[in-house]
Amino acid sequence: MKPLGPIPAGYEAIDGELAVGGQTVGALVERAGTTPLFVYSKEHLDRRVAELRQAMPPRLGINYAVKANPFGPVLEHMAGLVDGFDIASAGELALVEAAGIDPARVSFAGPGKRDSELEAAIAAGVTLNCESEGEARRALSTAERLGKAPRMAIRVNPEFELKGSGMKMGGGAKPFGLDAERVSALAREVIAAGAEFRGLHIFTGSQALSAEALIETQGNVLDLAGKLADEIGVPLPKLNMGGGFGIPYFHGDEPIEIQSIGTALAERFANLPPCLLDTQFCIELGRYLVGEAGVYLTRIVDRKESHGVTYLITDGGLHHQLAASGNFGTVVRRNYPVAIASRFTAVPDEEVNVVGCLCTPLDRLADAANLPRAEVGDLVAVFCAGAYGASASPSAFLGQGPAAEILV
Ligand SMILES: *Cc1c(COP(=O)(O)O)cnc(C)c1O
Repeated sequence: MKPLGPIPAGYEAIDGELAVGGQTVGALVERAGTTPLFVYSKEHLDRRVAELRQAMPPRLGINYAVKANPFGPVLEHMAGLVDGFDIASAGELALVEAAGIDPARVSFAGPGKRDSELEAAIAAGVTLNCESEGEARRALSTAERLGKAPRMAIRVNPEFELKGSGMKMGGGAKPFGLDAERVSALAREVIAAGAEFRGLHIFTGSQALSAEALIETQGNVLDLAGKLADEIGVPLPKLNMGGGFGIPYFHGDEPIEIQSIGTALAERFANLPPCLLDTQFCIELGRYLVGEAGVYLTRIVDRKESHGVTYLITDGGLHHQLAASGNFGTVVRRNYPVAIASRFTAVPDEEVNVVGCLCTPLDRLADAANLPRAEVGDLVAVFCAGAYGASASPSAFLGQGPAAEILV
């Protein structure tokens, strides 16, 4: 038997079935007309952002990293909850614009921005988080051609990283951002060229569950930003402090203690150096805001035995759930939180492997899981599906196509 990850708080049963937003999974699947189906919950999104605002100093802006979940109705809903949006392509720019989000609230990071992407972003008034001198200069000449003053921030590749982070994105040689010692020269160059300087972006990692590590990193980010602002010689208009807040996916993971992070940050904000006194601060979060608000529902199409092992074979799989299958940057595969959604309150009484419908042994949703007995037609729920599910899985693989998505 292998343990399952912890089911996020806030999921209930109605008549024994898992319910999201007051509707049973059976009713939700009927409404969508199909499985597999991603269901995202407004109530979860609202609660998550409200709890975060409660814990963080009021001065801290909260940005949403669109890549975690760019589903249109989710973006529209987030527009009323968060302060800013972080995008990483012109494709994501088109999605935020389609959701009616003011480009003045949007910043655009990511290495390898094409000229056409720079042009679209500058024309729209999006802030570019420049990842290199070359990119900044291409942006400046594009802006000149358009006759517009570009909004430009500089992404810093810091020497430190977020400890315990699932994905390290700072420290040493990186394709992201400018090495810290080169930042001030470029900042002065873009200011001299007439750009609207929008400050710095310092992102150090993802999926950290330790408040201590996050506090330490935020302290390092503020120290570095203060030092760089002094070198540049202007007060910093804005500082994107990165994010890195993780969610529990696996057995033994504990939710991060956001209150202690907020308290430590408030203390730092009360003792800022002069160059940061008027700075607008923000953090940028993806999975922390939306991950636990999503459930992936897939139907069991076959139940079979092989060498004494029971397989529940579903109509979903890694083409929508690459991370849950263990194939998105994991070394040792562990089970996500998974349940028999149509028998949510039934007592677990058998050990089964839940797999997808793809013809590859990589397509596993739960290994050696202790679950209630399920039959063909039952629905399986994979939790923590609100981030990096639909948007980060190879839905074209084996001709399967994307899953349906709804926001309730
Ligand atoms: C991916 C990414 C994020 C979001 O990461 P999460 O782990 O989902 O919070 C934020 N900022 C940048 C620069 C990123 O690349």
